[in-house]
Amino acid sequence: MDYLLTDEQKMIQELTRKIAEEKIRPVAAKYDQSEEFPWEVIKVIADSDLFGLFIPEQYGGMGVNVLNLCLATEELSRACGGIAVCYAASALGTFPIVLFGNEEQKKKYLPDLAKGKKLAAFGITEPEAGSDASAIKTTARKDGNHYILNGLKHFITNGGDAEVYTVIAMTDKTKGARGGSAFIVEKGTPGFTFGKKEDKFGIRASSTRELIFTDCKIPKENLLSREGTGFIVTMKTFDMSRPGVAAQALGIAQGALDLAVKYAKERRQFGKAISSFQGIQWMIADMATEIEAARSLIYAVARMVDAGRTDISKESAMAKMYASDVAMKVSTDALQIFGGYGYMRDYPIEKYMRDAKITQIYEGTNQIQRNIIALEVIKETAK
Ligand SMILES: Cc1cc2nc3c(=O)[nH]c(=O)nc-3n(C[C@H](O)[C@H](O)[C@H](O)COP(=O)(O)OP(=O)(O)OC[C@H]3O[C@@H](n4cnc5c(N)ncnc54)[C@H](O)[C@@H]3O)c2cc1C
Repeated sequence: MDYLLTDEQKMIQELTRKIAEEKIRPVAAKYDQSEEFPWEVIKVIADSDLFGLFIPEQYGGMGVNVLNLCLATEELSRACGGIAVCYAASALGTFPIVLFGNEEQKKKYLPDLAKGKKLAAFGITEPEAGSDASAIKTTARKDGNHYILNGLKHFITNGGDAEVYTVIAMTDKTKGARGGSAFIVEKGTPGFTFGKKEDKFGIRASSTRELIFTDCKIPKENLLSREGTGFIVTMKTFDMSRPGVAAQALGIAQGALDLAVKYAKERRQFGKAISSFQGIQWMIADMATEIEAARSLIYAVARMVDAGRTDISKESAMAKMYASDVAMKVSTDALQIFGGYGYMRDYPIEKYMRDAKITQIYEGTNQIQRNIIALEVIKETAK
């Protein structure tokens, strides 16, 4: 399919494909096994200015462009979904500042994030507040020129490794969802510590930790937007970032298909390459078609965002839901094509299946995406 990409977009695609093949693929299994944070690769990504793809030019970036971010994330994920999410999660943590930060906040935080000198993370989830984000218990109490944060966030990607955190806390519990506010919290602030690092099924190169706030005092200047807008900040952030999760899923699916086709051409049974069997060919045809359908949807949604459309919750949810379901199905079928060998860790394919699973869960599970889509469709139909 020709997506009529511009020269700049093709250049980003080629650059990230090269980084993926030369710098990520050779170390993907190592980081999957060790669960160390892949700083050596993050440095390569930073040196290539790729952290600038989601930051305006006046703050040191290359302009906020969601399609560019999707193209980069897709290519990096093709080699390793875990390493790619370390990059994409920094975009998730940065978007609230790009979308809602004031001039001082943007000047203070964005230049270092654009250069990849610092990573960002986003924290809303808590042990009792996952899909129901409005149930968060972390509080931010105003105290003169400061806010005092208390509470615990868990499952936070880049937790512990990022320097800049955008965090949602309740400033007024009596107001329910209208009582949440968004804050920027810097690593090293007294009262802000990290809990356990999770031992995960997939995306093991990416770090997932608890954020613990114990009388953590931050300047009032770290409030993003206004008090009470925390959940709007979150929803608008997710509208921008979900195409990126979809692109991660797409890259994982494409990477799994690439490996499966190569294997099918090499593996011989009944005196022939298994790629000559119709049963395998039909699987390949379905996988390739579903991947292309996901890609078309993601690029179309990313182009809507880049054209300035803000009413994109439905489309963004569709891209994330569809691409992640495709990634799970394609990576499962790819493993099937590898037969028993695919089940062994000696082969790279099982990692794709493990890495794919998370894309159906984070930034809102696919059940929640279906709720968002259905509500919008029903609303539109009632007009
Ligand atoms: C590896 C990893 C990284 C993550 N990174 C981050 C991060 O960087 N920042 C952050 O804030 N969070 C992060 N999360 C949290 C993630 O977004 C949540 O795990 C997710 O939103 C689901 O919440 P939960 O795990 O509490 O599941 P629950 O909400 O308890 O859901 C359990 C099941 O019930 C279903 N369910 C719940 N409500 C409904 C409903 N209304 N209708 C139908 N089904 C429903 C869900 O779909 C799911 O299948 C991460 C999670 C993981 C595992």
